[in-house]
Amino acid sequence: MAYDTEALVREALDAGFSSAGELNVRALVFMPEVREMCSADRCHQYNKNWRCPPGCGSIEEAAERAAQYSYGIIVQTTGHMDDDFDIDTINATSEKHRDSFAALVGGVRLRYPDMLPMGAGTCAKCEKCTYPDAPCRFPEQAISSMEAYGLWVSKVCELSGIPYYYGKLTLTYTSCYLLK
Ligand code: SF4
Repeated sequence: MAYDTEALVREALDAGFSSAGELNVRALVFMPEVREMCSADRCHQYNKNWRCPPGCGSIEEAAERAAQYSYGIIVQTTGHMDDDFDIDTINATSEKHRDSFAALVGGVRLRYPDMLPMGAGTCAKCEKCTYPDAPCRFPEQAISSMEAYGLWVSKVCELSGIPYYYGKLTLTYTSCYLLK
C-alpha cells in the first residue's frame, strides 16, 4: 500500500512533534543487546510493566510482529535545557512527547486500526501497572517502547536519514509507528 508521507509528517507536526519523517523499515533490526540493556534496569522499569521486558514477550515475538509491516513514521520531540540538570525541561519534554504520541496514535488508528505504535519509555497509561499480578487493563492501548522491541533508536534514526542528536543541551524523545 502506498502512503502519503508528506501528509503523515504534517499530521505528526500538527500533533505537536518537533520533527517527523519516514522510517526506513530496513533499519528495523531487533537486537538482543538492546534487551540486555533493558535488563540492566537503568530506567527502573525492567520486570515492572506489561509493556517492558520480560513481560512484553520475547525479541523473536517482537520481530515477528513488526515483520508484518512495510512502512513507518518516526516522530520526535526535542527540548532545550538550560543546563544538564534542567529536570523541569526534561520532564516537560517527556510529557509533551507522550501526550503528542497518544493524540497521534488515536487519530491514525481511526484510519489504520492495525497500526503498530512504538513509544518512548514504559507504558504509563495506568497510575500503577497491574504487572505481574493481573492481566493488562488495556491490552489494545498499551504501548511498548522502541527499546522494548529491541531497536537501537539512534541507529534507526540514522538509517532513516533523521537526526537523533540536535546539539548541545538538547534532549530528544523518539517514537514511531508502523503501517502494513
Ligand atoms: S495499560 Fe496499564 S496495565 Fe497495561 S501495560 Fe500499560 S500501565 Fe500496565
